[in-house]
Amino acid sequence: MKVSFEHEKLVVFESELMQTTCTLIIGERHLLLVDPNWLPSEVEKIAQRVSALQGDRSLYLYFTHSDYDHIIAYERFCDQAQVIVSQALLSNPEWHQQLEEIRQFYDQYYLAPPWPVSYPQRADLIIAQPAERHEIGGEVYHFYQALGHNRDGLIAFHETTGTLITGDYLCGVEFPFIYYSVLAYQKTLDLLGRLLNDLPVKTLVAGHGAVTQDKQEMQARWQASQWYLDALVAYGRDGRGFPETELWRKYPYFQHIQKKYHQANLALAKRELGRI
Ligand SMILES: [Zn+2]
Repeated sequence: MKVSFEHEKLVVFESELMQTTCTLIIGERHLLLVDPNWLPSEVEKIAQRVSALQGDRSLYLYFTHSDYDHIIAYERFCDQAQVIVSQALLSNPEWHQQLEEIRQFYDQYYLAPPWPVSYPQRADLIIAQPAERHEIGGEVYHFYQALGHNRDGLIAFHETTGTLITGDYLCGVEFPFIYYSVLAYQKTLDLLGRLLNDLPVKTLVAGHGAVTQDKQEMQARWQASQWYLDALVAYGRDGRGFPETELWRKYPYFQHIQKKYHQANLALAKRELGRI
């Protein structure tokens, strides 16, 4: 488990698997731990860092969305933490599917599950409104519903550090992966465009890949996502060919697997936007 970003008040871990990130915000009186993941040894390293820093601080466990790679270590921390999730995550009708994926993951690599495989069924703070402001340990967080990638995503902004935690949006290492809805994804991208303009964002942490503090890089990621969405809508609604060559020039990473995600996006766009 590498630490991809370290600052007095913010640590970002990056898994060796799919470059999945785990954010740890270190407040005066609280710790906020986001999406601890994947391998048991990696999660233990995160847990060690949490206990080294904790002291009198209360621990909060926040999930950006319910995809199995993000909730895989829920059980490791749930007893010691206050849980923050969206209302939609709690009522996700496909929650069982996520647990099945976790079991398959452990099985596939002969990993004995290090703790029971479970899904958050309750939370201490449930985000239900489109946008909510909360004080946690005396520090201000803003939460925003962010649907499209899946059906229960949230984006969070921590004022003290200027950290925007986007879940699986604006990842430098992947184009938009859309499991739920192209149109909902577009709304979330619109929201992200406003947040990048309106909020004093110092650090952007996406669910996979590198952290960035570069404003141009943040805008470039947004523009590349918008380019992808535009091409996807033109394909799904108007039957235009998708500019694949340009796609792989913009995102020249891990094409073996990412081609499958792209094919799934094309199929979803046809189903959702196609004139039948
Ligand atoms: Zn993810």
